[in-house]
Amino acid sequence: MTAVMTHPSELLPPTAGDRLLPARPGIGLTVHHRRVGALPHRSATELAAMVDAAGLQGRGGAGFPTARKIAAVAAAVGKTRRPAVVVANCCEGDPTAAKDRVLIDRSPHLVIDGAVAAARAVRADRVVLAVHHGSPARQTLAVALTERPDERVRIEVVAVPARYLASEATALLRFLDTGDARPAGRLPIWEKGVEGRPTLVDNAETFAHLALIARFGAGWFGAVGHPAEPGTMLLTLGGAVPRPGVIEVPTGASVRDVLACAGSRPTGWALIGGLAGRWMNLDRSAGIGLSTPELKEIGMTRGVGSLTVLPPGACLLQETTRIVTHQAQAGARQCGPCMFGLPAIAADLAALAAGDHDALARLHRRLPVIDGRGACGHPDGTVALTASALGSMNADEPGHLQRHLAGVPCRASATVPLGAMSGVRS
Ligand code: SF4
Repeated sequence: MTAVMTHPSELLPPTAGDRLLPARPGIGLTVHHRRVGALPHRSATELAAMVDAAGLQGRGGAGFPTARKIAAVAAAVGKTRRPAVVVANCCEGDPTAAKDRVLIDRSPHLVIDGAVAAARAVRADRVVLAVHHGSPARQTLAVALTERPDERVRIEVVAVPARYLASEATALLRFLDTGDARPAGRLPIWEKGVEGRPTLVDNAETFAHLALIARFGAGWFGAVGHPAEPGTMLLTLGGAVPRPGVIEVPTGASVRDVLACAGSRPTGWALIGGLAGRWMNLDRSAGIGLSTPELKEIGMTRGVGSLTVLPPGACLLQETTRIVTHQAQAGARQCGPCMFGLPAIAADLAALAAGDHDALARLHRRLPVIDGRGACGHPDGTVALTASALGSMNADEPGHLQRHLAGVPCRASATVPLGAMSGVRS
């Protein structure tokens, strides 16, 4: 196996493979086994203990400890005496992210291995690999499954609508049971998920890490990365960078070193964490490490694992208005914050950009009212992004904000990619 990076200064270039990304795409099972060996048979207890010791945290956005999820699902199986279901979320609905798409293209069997290992750990009899309609991942995974006819657990690839929110965890479960791909609220899915059975949902990258932990152990996994969030992570680098793409870095790698991999200097603004992320001032935050604890300290989030750089002269207000308008349209409009709150924020931002002084006060009143009121977290992400834009402009670009309020036209061009499956190249 290729040596793992041990220090941010040793980061590999964007197309290089490492723990998760072998250099050759679409590898078959034989080559996969030659690279990392076959998935060892471990007991449910042994696997759960290994994942716990590794400190693996979900790589889909929320960063929840995987061992706690496994323990909750396993406990629910014991309580209900019904076999669990494992769902690998391979959808990647955020248009700034392409990491799971690239991972599946390069290592489909690693993702499947992880889901199979998790199925053993929680005693599941069904594994669902959920992909977006039209995604190449559907075919890649289907072909990979033909090479594994003897799996003891039933594995299927299921295509869900290619919409931003269709891959939210409860939306996925609802779709699998009813064909309706809208979020279903804050459900105890670990106990009552697909078919009313205990269900483990994690994203593709998380399962790929789990597959390697099952092979090489917690010590190997934690030999790189930030001590509080060990291992490596995939990151999509996009926007105004010379070499956009997906790279694997140790958690805690600095923003400066990561951007250097894309041929970019850390200056200006970047969106970190996707459409529900935050604006980062690169001139000030270049030394920050990309790990949850370090980012949290400065009010940031790793989110969907993307860093989208704005070109010089870009306007945070205009970019945020575009994103929030997109998010307002993407909402499932089942509850008030989605139906009324997000369109109102989008309208206020557009009004502010056009010089409406009252819009700023309206936004400051509106954001706390909407935050936390949706049945899912969709409005919260939009509120956080808007607050981040207003705070950043106020602190770092007060003159620019004043020009907007004075009605001076802003001719900055749009950068952050919007729309399903668009934008970032891999
Ligand atoms: S907040 Fe929006 S996306 Fe979430 S459940 Fe309510 S309507 Fe659906």
